Amino acid sequence: MTHGDGGANPDATPPAAGSADTDPDAATGDAADGADGPATDDAAELTPGELADLAADDWRAALAAAGELRPPVVAEIITVHGDRGSRAIEAVAEGRVKRYRDFTVVVGYREEHIVEDGGCDCRDATYNLDTSDPSERCWHALAVDIAERVDRVDHHDMWYSEVTEFL
Ligand SMILES: [Zn+2]
Repeated sequence: MTHGDGGANPDATPPAAGSADTDPDAATGDAADGADGPATDDAAELTPGELADLAADDWRAALAAAGELRPPVVAEIITVHGDRGSRAIEAVAEGRVKRYRDFTVVVGYREEHIVEDGGCDCRDATYNLDTSDPSERCWHALAVDIAERVDRVDHHDMWYSEVTEFL
């Protein structure tokens, strides 16, 4: 008698109440991250195709026009500069281009390098660059070029000569 018909299988308990509390919908909050650029309206004027065309012609101009690192421009930078380009982009993304009152510095893996007018004091710039090709730059100089155009330079209101003992 006590087991009745057994029709009320506990497994059939509606899971709705319990699982609703774990609200998988919370994940939808991340969708807002996709629109993190309220100030990028200007860039929307260029379609990815137009941006790619511009980048192929002059990635610095395309970058300045976009105001941020867009895929077509990133692709062009890496096409033109290879590993130096990807290192530069990585440094910009990580905020490793720093401007002090006296110098612009790029923080590398082991040391920091001062970049002035596209020139750099690193070994790559000193020994590897083709001096007959002014468009060749080490990744530190490229990082500065990129950071300036996408407003990702990390400004420090102090003298670099005072925060380091490089002299
Ligand atoms: Zn360098």
